[in-house]
Amino acid sequence: MENDYTRIWEGTETVVSILHSQAAVATQILITGKKHSASILVDAGDGCLRDLVDREFIFDNLKGILFTHAHYDHCSGLFGLLSFLTVVCKKKKDLPIYTPSVCVEIERQLHLWRELYENRDLFKVNHYRINPGETKSLSNFIFTAHEAAHPASETTSSVSDGIVQVPPSGERGFLYDMQVGHEKVLICPDSGMDEKLFLHAEGADLALLEATLPSENKRVGHIHMTESEARSVGERASSHILVHRGIKSGYFHKLTDENNKNND
Ligand SMILES: [Zn+2]
Repeated sequence: MENDYTRIWEGTETVVSILHSQAAVATQILITGKKHSASILVDAGDGCLRDLVDREFIFDNLKGILFTHAHYDHCSGLFGLLSFLTVVCKKKKDLPIYTPSVCVEIERQLHLWRELYENRDLFKVNHYRINPGETKSLSNFIFTAHEAAHPASETTSSVSDGIVQVPPSGERGFLYDMQVGHEKVLICPDSGMDEKLFLHAEGADLALLEATLPSENKRVGHIHMTESEARSVGERASSHILVHRGIKSGYFHKLTDENNKNND
């Protein structure tokens, strides 16, 4: 079922499944090491549990979750996923979750999940707030977080002239450099254009790059890239896939027209 929002890439050591990635709707990307069948989920937007169940995913293979940031379309599936691991899988092994330092939307979901299920004596979620430039290893994955030109959370978003601004360092979302054996995957599902992206993409076997804005969109997005900007970065990698594409423009206008009508 490949389409603009769902894709699979297979390297020699890694399988990258873009379970779904659509701007303002949901992004969830599953990275699996072929030798050990261990998987890491990057972001957990709405429908992430459904996407994993549809693929008959073995939940025991999930070694951790990395979040790029806490905007709702990247994290709103977390509560459902954790509840499923509790109620259906009766998971015992602790689950590490890595996020940028300010991620209110994720922390609130973790708080609610702990409150509801703490008496079950099952797994714990170990939440690590990591710093830009930090490298961690998990199972057979080694990953480094880098700051994206994008807010870490709604609480770090600020709007000026109708455009969301890139917050100062320390309040930004992440992109991840992921190493699986000899293979390198750059995962950048939400970021504005940034010269550093070219360096991160250099030598990657695969780069997943956000392309929220269609190329004909003349407005320069501070926190999103156009398709042509994303492709120019992607050319530095051996292969690239555009993710986080915008809602189809006809439909988007219908939604905003409806909103204008409702507010009349
Ligand atoms: Zn975002």
